[in-house]
Amino acid sequence: MDLKDIGEFGFINRFANKFNSFIKKDEIGIGDDCAVIPINESYNYVITTDLLNEDIHFLKNKISPEELGYKSLAVNLSDLAAMGAEPKFSFLSIGIPNHISVEYLDAFISGFYKLSEKYKMPLMGGDTTKSSDKLIINVTVIGQCEKTEMHLRSMAKEGDLICVTGFLGDSAGGLKVLLNNLEPSPNNKYLVQKHHTPEPRIQEGMWLAKQKTVHAMMDISDGIASDLIHILNASNKSAIIHTEKLPISEALLKGSTENNWNPIELACSGGEDYELLFTVSAKNIDKLKKEYTAQFSENISVVGEIKIGETGINWLKNGVEITNNKNGFNHFSNK
Ligand SMILES: [Mg+2]
Repeated sequence: MDLKDIGEFGFINRFANKFNSFIKKDEIGIGDDCAVIPINESYNYVITTDLLNEDIHFLKNKISPEELGYKSLAVNLSDLAAMGAEPKFSFLSIGIPNHISVEYLDAFISGFYKLSEKYKMPLMGGDTTKSSDKLIINVTVIGQCEKTEMHLRSMAKEGDLICVTGFLGDSAGGLKVLLNNLEPSPNNKYLVQKHHTPEPRIQEGMWLAKQKTVHAMMDISDGIASDLIHILNASNKSAIIHTEKLPISEALLKGSTENNWNPIELACSGGEDYELLFTVSAKNIDKLKKEYTAQFSENISVVGEIKIGETGINWLKNGVEITNNKNGFNHFSNK
């Protein structure tokens, strides 16, 4: 059997339950944005780790070392944001091929430090090792959150509205700019910047976690088409998504017009937006939207609704069902 036949999550499902059987009360293992380990009666540690491989997750000649250092930490912090956690500690391990200079590594660490400084987050350890050919980066982060403010993927309820922060698809647009060597116009530069230096929604995640009307929450790393399925699987629900309500930035619309991209497809399946995806009880949405905008000077977009029924997404355009064959990013798929 090839890995591409079962995909990343098919592989994980082959062993996750075996280890989860060792898990004690109040601990959460494989299956959410972070693992959860109780600290005391009031607080949990939440822990996540991410691996970035040269040529798979980044193209070394397209991203500066500072940006790479920043992004390596940012993608991990986004998982803490999804748990509503406050960042506390980080660990960094790097596999370094011979041709990487000390100057390159200094610049990488300076980008990593820049984001660490924002949260006064110490780098507590890690490992450095030689790698045969490609640069390999592994980051682990630990955050802390109140037990009463946990918002797991399993918490979506029938009738909840599905919401997202920010815009979707900009990062995928940025990747297209890089891969197609498009001219560095201000618009294209903006999209590339969204791809290289995503801002993890830490403050927004902590604020949303305090709202009792917010139920399930996660971050969008692979695209809403794939990530929403995780919430639906964990909550045993289905969903409808109104594609015309997906938040598309002016920059992505402009890039799409100029280059013949499909902005809806990029918003659904592009990935690496690192925005928050969460569900809210419908009767509280107006109040939540108003308070969020007052707090962050930005809007929340309501893009769909949680339904009962077999896990899956019904994609609508102006109320009419459409087929969406793009199911988000799968590491081992050839599609
Ligand atoms: Mg995540």
